[in-house]
Amino acid sequence: MSLVQKEKRMSSALTPQTSITRQNWLRRIAPPLLNLAYEAGIYRALSTIYGGLGLIFSLHRVVEPNSLVLQPHHLLRSDILTEVLATLRKLDWDIVSVQEISDRISGRGPRTGRRFACFTFDDGYADSLTLALPIFREYQAPLCVYVTTGIVERSIFYWWGANHELIVKSDSVEVPSLTSSQSTILPGQTFEQKWNSYQKLNALCHQWGDSFTPTLRELYKRNSIDPDRCLDREALSIDQLQELASDPLVTIGSHCVTHQRLSQMHQDEMWFELDESRRKLEVWLGLEIRHLAYSFGRSDACGIREFQAARKAGFDTAVTTRQGNLFPQHREHLLCLPRRSIPVTRLGLLNALFGVETILRKESRVQLA
Ligand SMILES: [Zn+2]
Repeated sequence: MSLVQKEKRMSSALTPQTSITRQNWLRRIAPPLLNLAYEAGIYRALSTIYGGLGLIFSLHRVVEPNSLVLQPHHLLRSDILTEVLATLRKLDWDIVSVQEISDRISGRGPRTGRRFACFTFDDGYADSLTLALPIFREYQAPLCVYVTTGIVERSIFYWWGANHELIVKSDSVEVPSLTSSQSTILPGQTFEQKWNSYQKLNALCHQWGDSFTPTLRELYKRNSIDPDRCLDREALSIDQLQELASDPLVTIGSHCVTHQRLSQMHQDEMWFELDESRRKLEVWLGLEIRHLAYSFGRSDACGIREFQAARKAGFDTAVTTRQGNLFPQHREHLLCLPRRSIPVTRLGLLNALFGVETILRKESRVQLA
């Protein structure tokens, strides 16, 4: 099945059947118009201004094609990953390692001027080794895996994985409120209900932060979900990490220790996250760790203080999850590089590659705040 067919199937599966509002109408009319614009060559014309030099994709887990996926940017089906790589090869884009990014941005090297994409996987999941790496080997394309050492050591609270299992397994989940006696009911009898409930539960976790942890633990217990077992099943072990790092296509980077927002930490705690993660990875792997991804990476998770700390700590590059393509201006900002969530449709991929996303989201090129 092509990306276009998947796009149609996905949008029909996910679009609520409500009356045709202006927004729904726009959502229906926009994809065919954008496809026409691509076929007419308008994307290529726009990309000279808005597409930049290339981009870094951010991924997390890769799952089998028949998996139930409630957050496609976090759990990407392996068949979609294969199609993304095949499309890049067809378009004759370079797929580069994270080491090559600074040369490409600075205009150094023989391949200057060619468009490029870089693939990065956050957190340290076992499927980076078992599912992603074989696909990258097939295309002889490099990839970078940013590892949270607490994930490999099984010492973090893996609420996002537990939330997925909870919603996938439940017909209905009752979530107590932190501020009132009224609970939130999250239905899960249909795919669409599960989809919406998962986004809602994750939003509550981000909204309430650590103060929500006791409630979540109780919720998991009541529904027989064990977050530690979910983590153990899905995370890389040290042996797997060593096997992954031994492949010449793979670069290992740091993704901190506890996977929490650095900007909300005391200075000493933030330094510990940067130093300790790198130190442990270097001991485990016998390699120098030169690249960093900030945990969460949004503007509420890292800012100027963290970018300066990463520079002082000696990292060559550091990536955020601020959305954007790479431009020559980024040569002065190698410690706060934007990335793009991996697109799950053909049109989404073209919008990302050719800079249409830059226009649609009205993105500024360098996003420090
Ligand atoms: Zn992460």
